[in-house]
Amino acid sequence: MATLLIAEHNGTELAPATLSALTAAQQVGSDVTVLVAGADVKAVADAVAQCAGVSKVLLAEGDSLAHDLAENLSELVMSVASDYSHIMAPANSVSKDTMPRVAAMLDVGQLSDITAVLSSDQFQRPIYAGNAIATVTSKDATKVITVRAAAFDKVATTGGSATVESISAPEANSHTAWVNDELSKSERPELTAAERIVSGGRGVGSAENFALVEALADKLGAAVGASRAAVDSGFVANDLQVGQTGKIVAPSLYMAFGISGAIQHLAGMKDSKVIVAVNKDEDAPIFQVADYGLVGDLFEVLPEMTEKL
Ligand code: FAD
Repeated sequence: MATLLIAEHNGTELAPATLSALTAAQQVGSDVTVLVAGADVKAVADAVAQCAGVSKVLLAEGDSLAHDLAENLSELVMSVASDYSHIMAPANSVSKDTMPRVAAMLDVGQLSDITAVLSSDQFQRPIYAGNAIATVTSKDATKVITVRAAAFDKVATTGGSATVESISAPEANSHTAWVNDELSKSERPELTAAERIVSGGRGVGSAENFALVEALADKLGAAVGASRAAVDSGFVANDLQVGQTGKIVAPSLYMAFGISGAIQHLAGMKDSKVIVAVNKDEDAPIFQVADYGLVGDLFEVLPEMTEKL
């Protein structure tokens, strides 16, 4: 058995999700090789080589790999796939595009968004928006797996001394071309990597009122999140949405203001370590998952909290 893990990075730094996926890969119980692909990513490969429990790093550099195009990345993975019993990646937008292609080319099923490794061929994954946990056994010769990073602790970024081996980048695929990236810029931490998140829902009432949520987030060095109702109402951009159809998060602290706690929202945040909810309705379902609940008006509580902090 041998596992290949595809690293998530931004070209210069390893994403924390890779460290969590490494834990999952190590739990499979085989040697773990990490594939680092990009245009100029030697520094990332060197950083991966230092991570605890990594046996080998494959470094693939080339223009065809510069922008995470799934067509090229899946081609690269296929060029080494026969050496591995497990091919894993953190569940993210790139792997959701790439891994099904790899699974299809290998003619195997994909195990998506696993939250636990029970053995080398048995895994758990949430279904029905996290209302049930499925235990899935794969009989496929190669297991193609995406990992829900929030469900696994991160490995240490030191203690390893893996070798870095260069492999060839594939030719650029002719029918898909990268045009441009439109990235939202924020001084605040990225939602899925944040240790603290302050979220607002429909109860916040308007885009202007979201300044109250942002003020508390800035006091705490936290990321800002939102419910889908807040996003659909145009209060904030949709990349801040937490939930089944948004981002899945599990920070140390999740604070929810004016969020009712619909099951689709809970699916994205209920694994947070400490949940604080403020809602004027004492029967709001969010209180069922909250460690600390306050029945109150967010327009009074938010400014007071921000001031007292
Ligand atoms: P509401 O349910 O309207 O709740 C607003 C809350 O604010 C209420 O509890 C109210 O008491 C409180 N409130 C109002 N004023 C104040 C005040 N002054 N002070 C304190 N509290 C106040 N939702 C998500 O969030 N993320 C998803 O990813 C997601 N995916 C979905 C996928 C599908 C297929 C479907 C069908 C739905 C999805 N939803 C998702 C929507 C979800 O069902 C809910 O509609 C949504 O989460 C509700 O958002 P909310 O809690 O902000 O709004």
